[in-house]
Amino acid sequence: MTVDVRIAVGLAITVIGLGFVAWRALFLFRLVTSGQPAPGRFADIGAQVKAEIMDVFGQRKLLKRPGPGLAHFFTFWGFIVLTLTIIEAYGDLFDVTFSLTTWPGLGFIEDFFAVAVLVAIISFAAIRIRQNPARRERRSRFYGSHTRAAWYTLAMIFGVIATLLIYRGAQVVTGDFPYGKSWWAFASRSLGAAFTGMGHGAALNLETAMILGQILVIWAFFVFVLNSKHMHIFVSEPNVLFSRRPKALGPLATTPDLDPEKMTEDTVFGTGLIGHLTWKQRLDLISCTECGRCQDQCPAWATDKPLSPKLVIMDLREHMFESASELLAGQPLLPKPNEVPVAVGAAVSDGSSGATASDGAAEPVALKPLVPNVIAEDVLWSCTTCGACVEQCPVDIEHVDTIVDMRRYQVLIEARFPSEANLMLRNVENRGDPWGLGSSQRTAWLDGLDFEIPVVDSTIPDDVEYLFWVGCAGALDERARRTTQAIARLLKQAGVSFAVLGPKESCTGDPARRLGNEYLFQTQAQQNIETLQSANVKKIVASCPHCFNSIAREYPALGGNFEVYHHTQLLEKLLTAGSLRPQARIEQKITYHDPCYLGRHNEVYDEPRGVLNHVPGVQLEEMHRCRNRGFCCGAGGSRMWLEENIGSRINVNRTDEALATGADVISTACPYCLIMLDDATKSRQAEGSVSENIKVMDVAQVLEQSLAGVGARGGSPAPTAEETKGAGGLAGSEGLAAPDPASPPEPGAS
Ligand code: SF4
Ligand code: SF4
Repeated sequence: MTVDVRIAVGLAITVIGLGFVAWRALFLFRLVTSGQPAPGRFADIGAQVKAEIMDVFGQRKLLKRPGPGLAHFFTFWGFIVLTLTIIEAYGDLFDVTFSLTTWPGLGFIEDFFAVAVLVAIISFAAIRIRQNPARRERRSRFYGSHTRAAWYTLAMIFGVIATLLIYRGAQVVTGDFPYGKSWWAFASRSLGAAFTGMGHGAALNLETAMILGQILVIWAFFVFVLNSKHMHIFVSEPNVLFSRRPKALGPLATTPDLDPEKMTEDTVFGTGLIGHLTWKQRLDLISCTECGRCQDQCPAWATDKPLSPKLVIMDLREHMFESASELLAGQPLLPKPNEVPVAVGAAVSDGSSGATASDGAAEPVALKPLVPNVIAEDVLWSCTTCGACVEQCPVDIEHVDTIVDMRRYQVLIEARFPSEANLMLRNVENRGDPWGLGSSQRTAWLDGLDFEIPVVDSTIPDDVEYLFWVGCAGALDERARRTTQAIARLLKQAGVSFAVLGPKESCTGDPARRLGNEYLFQTQAQQNIETLQSANVKKIVASCPHCFNSIAREYPALGGNFEVYHHTQLLEKLLTAGSLRPQARIEQKITYHDPCYLGRHNEVYDEPRGVLNHVPGVQLEEMHRCRNRGFCCGAGGSRMWLEENIGSRINVNRTDEALATGADVISTACPYCLIMLDDATKSRQAEGSVSENIKVMDVAQVLEQSLAGVGARGGSPAPTAEETKGAGGLAGSEGLAAPDPASPPEPGAS
């Protein structure tokens, strides 16, 4: 082949490939950027750049699974380094002796990464072959992923590396190899040695064919990747860069402005149509690698519910591409009238304004309502908002925000949600707590104490440092109340001055917000902020991680700024300072369950363990799924108030794991976790499979035993119901885990 023909063929491939790539890239760019605004995506550039360095260039999350992580690490860096060889291939198209440099070190680096990528793709293939039979099983993280495209991609990467090494080997024979006779470029030299029997002419033809072959396979790869799920190769980098920092957990992404003055008839709350997604949410969809790490950790999926965070993202992505022409039309959006589901739930608050998009100047575009057409209702309501998916995702997809956005639309626009939640929402709205017991019961737990705690009347006394935010469960549930009393006694013993709001405390609104009722959340939040500000409260200690998360992380967006601690943080500080001195040995094996809203959402992992480690004799035994891989108790995301009638029970799954450690005590630091784990332990005890002596306790209760000198040796350390009867007993011996199912409110009641 003459030089002119070689150049003509190479440039023709390039022009055609570039045309396809540019057309597709422009389409993807327009599709993403035509999404709704995503506020705050440039709020912390330093943290965003740091995450890009750690998660993209350092492959931090992927390396948590060392095998596939290392293979991915070398593939990623191989692509970056081997960009140099693409430049060299284009140079060789015009002049076969072209080189960026003759420095042998570059030859070594290029050969090293070429071989590393080869080894990586062989290991990817081995993993896929090994897992192939299992990937059809629900337990496989690849269940539901597109597997064929992965094989095509591996084949093309192999093609890129094979053509590269062969043309460099042929160059060794023709004398065009730029890195001299040294063996630094070991792989190219080895192939060159294998080709030595080949004549100069044959080697030249092979060199030309492989240069053109490499250019062809590279463009074919680019075109294929941009048209498959492997487009993550190019879009996951900006997705990580624009993700919420420090991570998309804790507060929700948006706090909608519910000011009636600012609402128009086009105002839409949440996500009901694919067109309501923000540009970042659209970028999330095309960034998914279908790796299934999220699915693997999801408690709903693990207990045979229909929710898989991976499948949610994949289904939304498929629907987005199906609806691309409508989305790019740039017109007002409306649900397709014949597909709008009939509401079966109940609007609970005045915030259900029923606002929908209306006729604009342009003709509205009709789109399928997402729920139930794309995302089934059981999928949407199965989520506990535990955040395991967000924590695991290597490309920082923000599943929880998207799921709650879809819930917001269902609740506020469609008035459609599981009927069991109606009573809880009504109780919060009318009585200030999910159980509807009312403010008069909020101080009942004080009766079990032998000392006085100031109840704030107008303002917190000057000599009182902390406001103890008790929380609804901590004040009203019998089991959680024991923790509240233990914390109060510990603070008193440590000499900490604190007061409570008593009847002035009201639900933070967390259960309403996670269910999607943003209006009720903001009403509760504003009322509480007003109460706290008028009482001149500066420092708060909260015993419930959900209250802690709301007040510390979500109230600032509504003007409430307070210094908030979880009780384990304060207790650990007091222990370290010597203000609390545990004495009695608690010779027991204790396992600790990380509450999702304390651990993953707020990264408080060490302090609760620190409290337990201060207790002499305690043997802390970790569960397999712990810390940021902790498994939800099943109560988050307002699931505490919903029936769990699909699959197995999440709290039983978690409790079985805790029991498998052989622990005498299952400890935690959240009243909801305490109730869920205690229920599951009792059900196992009722079956006779578990010792009656095993207890579920808050870490504060464990600590208090040691301080009170109630040491234990393999027996029952926890206060019994009789011992704590003075606490009130309002809720009866079984606590207040659920609303009365016998009298559900009428659908549509408000
Ligand atoms: S937040 Fe938890 S329950 Fe919800 S999809 Fe993610 S992993 Fe599953
Ligand atoms: S959402 Fe993230 S973790 Fe889940 S499959 Fe996609 S890339 Fe993997």
